[in-house]
Amino acid sequence: MLIGQDITVIGAGIGGLTAALALAMRGARVEVLEQAAEVTEVGAGIQVSPNGMAVLDALGVADALIARSVRGQKVTLRDGLTGKAVVEMDLTGLKAPQPWLFVHRADLVDVLHAACIGVGVEIRLNTGVETLLPVDGGVQLEMASGETLTRPLVIAADGVRSKARAVVAGEEEPAFTGQTAWRVLVPQPEAVAPEVQVFLGPGRHMVAYPLRDGRTMNVVAVKERDHWVGEGWTQQDYPETLQAAFSDFAPEAQALLADIEEVYLWGLFKRPVAQVWSLGRLALLGDAAHATLPFLAQGACMAIEDAWVLADALANAASPETGLAAYETRRIDRCRRIVAGADTNARAYHLGTPLRSGALAALKLGGKLAPKA
Ligand code: FAD
Repeated sequence: MLIGQDITVIGAGIGGLTAALALAMRGARVEVLEQAAEVTEVGAGIQVSPNGMAVLDALGVADALIARSVRGQKVTLRDGLTGKAVVEMDLTGLKAPQPWLFVHRADLVDVLHAACIGVGVEIRLNTGVETLLPVDGGVQLEMASGETLTRPLVIAADGVRSKARAVVAGEEEPAFTGQTAWRVLVPQPEAVAPEVQVFLGPGRHMVAYPLRDGRTMNVVAVKERDHWVGEGWTQQDYPETLQAAFSDFAPEAQALLADIEEVYLWGLFKRPVAQVWSLGRLALLGDAAHATLPFLAQGACMAIEDAWVLADALANAASPETGLAAYETRRIDRCRRIVAGADTNARAYHLGTPLRSGALAALKLGGKLAPKA
């Protein structure tokens, strides 16, 4: 039922753009409403594992992304205090046809954006949605501009602070997870090995992997704290504060932070996986439905998977409502498992003794994910 169907996607993030592309490729007429003035992402890395790549390949954008990414070869979990390797996972031996990529977020969004334009998706910038109201045969949207739009089918990919979420699944504010993350891009004098290094320590861990030509290291350093008042991804912090937080870590971990200049800090928020993903002709996708801690590197990959399943479910359904219900049924258990796995890793990563910890959880789940792709 997708040929010629008008569909509105809210949000031009990774989830919204992938959904727009998947829906348009099945014949829908898609518009994307994005509150920001441009389609872009923060300056940070993201890992796209083979399950996400399988979808991106089916959507015809894998090669463009691979050309701008580093092909990951290995993940090494280390005891942060000694630097000793605890667990290694060979990313080239996953028996998946797709690579595991380290990608600059802006590159992923750029590739998806270009593909959307290529299939006729209309992207409307500076177009924030204020309120959503399911009505007979569609959804009424009150825009920040004061305009009112009525649309026949709306997919809300509006992130962890989704406005649609309360309408579909009831009021539940995003909660601070007790974890904060610094992120920093560190120039390297020469290309570094295509590996993820994870340094685990009490109440903290640090993840590092190279981007683009291997001469930029993406570093994310996570530390537990009791409360958080900031919002958004643009709050800066002093390099010295980050360095001090990891000053007892092994020399190779500290070396990653030696010459940092621009450091960002943000709080990690999430909500429980939504109990219900659609109401009438309004559905949630990506973080709006199932924001997760990033400790399995699967949040964006789940949004990418959602997009494929959504388009498939709608294309094969007798009505939008039954298509949206089928989409939820096909996705919800898997997303719950991923979110729970990331929560487990949050505890395991920050134990004082990673050798005895459950740090293997990440690798077990990673190994299972790949062959499914
Ligand atoms: P978002 O990226 O939040 O996009 C939402 C979009 O909607 C934005 O463009 C926003 O401007 C727009 N919007 C919001 N409200 C409105 C409105 N009212 N009207 C119009 N537009 C609106 N995932 C992985 O798969 N691999 C990783 O390695 C990985 N690493 C991570 C590391 C960290 C530190 C963090 C925090 C997350 C990580 N993730 C990772 C998770 C991933 O970043 C998210 O799951 C993913 O970006 C969610 O995409 P989304 O499109 O659902 O939401």
